[in-house]
Amino acid sequence: MEHPENNQEYKGLAVNRGIEQPASVNPYLKAQRKAKRRTLSVAEFVEGILQGNVTILSQAVTLVESVKPEHQSIAQEVIEKCLPYSGNSVRVGISGVPGAGKSTSIDVFGLHELQKGGKLAVLAIDPSSERSKGSILGDKTRMEQLSVHPDSFIRPSPSAGSLGGVARKTRETIILCEAAGFDKIFVETVGVGQSETAVHSMVDFFLLIQLAGTGDELQGIKRGIMEMADGIVINKADGSNVDKAQLAATQFRNALHLFPAPDSGWTPRVLTYSGFYNLGVKEIWDMIDEYIAFVKENGYFDYRRNEQSKYWMYEAINEHLRDSFYNNEVVKSMLADKERQVLEANLTSFVAARNLLDAYFAELKK
Ligand code: GDP
Repeated sequence: MEHPENNQEYKGLAVNRGIEQPASVNPYLKAQRKAKRRTLSVAEFVEGILQGNVTILSQAVTLVESVKPEHQSIAQEVIEKCLPYSGNSVRVGISGVPGAGKSTSIDVFGLHELQKGGKLAVLAIDPSSERSKGSILGDKTRMEQLSVHPDSFIRPSPSAGSLGGVARKTRETIILCEAAGFDKIFVETVGVGQSETAVHSMVDFFLLIQLAGTGDELQGIKRGIMEMADGIVINKADGSNVDKAQLAATQFRNALHLFPAPDSGWTPRVLTYSGFYNLGVKEIWDMIDEYIAFVKENGYFDYRRNEQSKYWMYEAINEHLRDSFYNNEVVKSMLADKERQVLEANLTSFVAARNLLDAYFAELKK
């Protein structure tokens, strides 16, 4: 139909008919791009990982971290097939409060270890990442030298879900990395509490980075965290800070004496170092090597890994049950109301919980 504005009344204002536009994208390229985005099969993932292909490893980790059920089912199959090829690594947990010097230290520790050969994966568990959208390891440049090293793989913390969920994904990522030939694994976490327990439950050696000079070294640190440490290292022992660092080390040594002897039979050590100036780093890794040799000899190495597997079985069950409960439609529809009743003191917490659980189990039976 002729456009109304082409009417004589609108003289001078001509509107042309539209013309057919050519395709905006070369159809050949379009097809190619599609092909690239195709998800690999389980067998392709496993083969790529076993060949040490880091691109495929990254894609597999992305599936591990995904909340989509179809991704999870592929991820779980890939993990299962990689499991027989995993385990051949030394896993070190590295914890410390923000500012303790974790990134600086991991960069130096990593290079020190890579000098001996092998491959290093740096993973993280950051419970705050959901809040701050990946504060820890979010920025790869935090580890300037490692991030460009051909034998390192740095992966930020998975960000979605509960601490338990985030930790499980990191643990599964360890399996994939090991199958890809990474024989040194660092798992970093911020020293703020529960995340240490999660890291402790997936590593062979737990290293706690501390700082001197705050005057309340021991007060600020939770007893439970200290008890988990296989080694405590006081960072920034450089310049005018050396004496203070040594004093802090003495305090930590004295405090450690008060704890019961760990099951490993190993006496945790306290060392001072400077990550920034690369002083005392060799001594830290000599200590870790000595520990690994010691616990492999006395059987604790395998015992701890078995205990960890057991722990993760229960964690997986707990996580699954929790998800199933909170995603249940009936539970979802009742939750806000029950919460309000508890807040208004019309219902005790226990009765409210019971009601919700009863409704959940009744729903399951249907
Ligand atoms: P993170 O938050 O634990 O990862 O800590 P960073 O590695 O980012 O370090 C925090 C600050 O401490 C940075 O300004 C570093 O330059 C500084 N720093 C780290 N290690 C040392 C060290 O061994 N000596 C000194 N003097 N400063 C350090």
